[in-house]
Amino acid sequence: MELFFPKEIREGETRVPLVPSIASKFSALGAEITVEAGFGASVKIADSEYEKAGCKITPDRKSALAKADIILRLSPPPGEEISATKKGAIHISYLDPFFNLERVKKLAKAGASAICMEMIPRTTIAQKMDALSSQANLAGYVAVLQAVNKLDKIAPMMMTPAGTLSPAKVFIIGAGVAGLQAIATAKRLGARVEAFDTRPVVEEQVCSLGAKFLKIDLGETGQTDGGYAKELTPEQLELQRQGMAKACAQADIVITTAQLFGRKAPVLIKSDVIDGMMPGSVVVDMAAETGGNVEGSKPGEEVVQNGVTIIGASNLAGCVPLDASQMYASNLFNFVDHFWDKEAKTFNLNREDEIIAGSLLTHDGEIVNETIKEKAG
Ligand code: NAD
Repeated sequence: MELFFPKEIREGETRVPLVPSIASKFSALGAEITVEAGFGASVKIADSEYEKAGCKITPDRKSALAKADIILRLSPPPGEEISATKKGAIHISYLDPFFNLERVKKLAKAGASAICMEMIPRTTIAQKMDALSSQANLAGYVAVLQAVNKLDKIAPMMMTPAGTLSPAKVFIIGAGVAGLQAIATAKRLGARVEAFDTRPVVEEQVCSLGAKFLKIDLGETGQTDGGYAKELTPEQLELQRQGMAKACAQADIVITTAQLFGRKAPVLIKSDVIDGMMPGSVVVDMAAETGGNVEGSKPGEEVVQNGVTIIGASNLAGCVPLDASQMYASNLFNFVDHFWDKEAKTFNLNREDEIIAGSLLTHDGEIVNETIKEKAG
């Protein structure tokens, strides 16, 4: 089988979906691996390193796309490249299906079997393929570093002959994968950390990292079978905002990570709360790209309001592209390896398997994922 990794061309993307150590593992499967020339430039990996790992290098993206049995990427494919692929080819990448249904329709029309990395079920067996988790983990770490860098003070407590500096106060909203890593990172830097999440199961995880869990009585909340937060009612959301206002006012850093799978992120910090924060404090909105948890935040930009810097996070994992690429490549490999028929040396698109059933969006000219099909009408 021919596997092709085209060069990432999305503006601002620094990550790549294959690194040489993982390319060797793909080669060991007995697959023919081709990467586009200049593939690793953003992570300073030369073509020759990929060659040493058993990859062919091609400058001809178009023919490689037309020939490949499996195309593996990080960013979703640009529209014009979808129709340029072989009918029946397997396509694996992020697809952002809830916010770009047209792309899914195009993939179906092209006869592609499109696997969506965001839709890989959050099950124990699929953890090693879970790119949402691997990238969110790194993003949580980067968010804290960016916030601390912007702060006019230090994170840890410092007792010196010149006086004692109190630790920075960090408030983290949403303690999923990114939030828990942000808590751990802020704790390692010596900050005093408080966190809140609507899923009650999270309290124990927050406390085990040495942070304090802010308790707000919202009535019944919870999580879906897939482990995602349930959407709050408007009344619950208002109660939450009121309950968090004091923690925000006292914080030097607020990091928001709250997401609702497949939907716009909830607005958790309104302008009046920003106005009540201390000048010089920093807010990182990790949900800026999915609608924003913070009123006024803009993805990829910094806004200053009332002396408070609001960082609209955008591709934070891309700030540590080497590790992010290593992890994403590993997620891709684990996915392919899991379904690889070692004797026939082919990928077995087993639609009975729950991982394929959850993540396969299009097949044989149709949209086959029920949720996406419903949305597409
Ligand atoms: P996510 O990115 O969808 O959301 C981030 C966090 O925001 C979640 O913890 C969510 O509860 C929280 N949130 C949503 N609305 C909120 C609100 N109004 N206020 C405060 N917080 C709010 O979630 P994620 O981090 O990708 O994953 C969530 C959970 O899924 C994980 O913590 C874990 O329990 C589970 N998970 C399981 C596996 C696995 O078993 N393989 C893998 C990944 C995640």
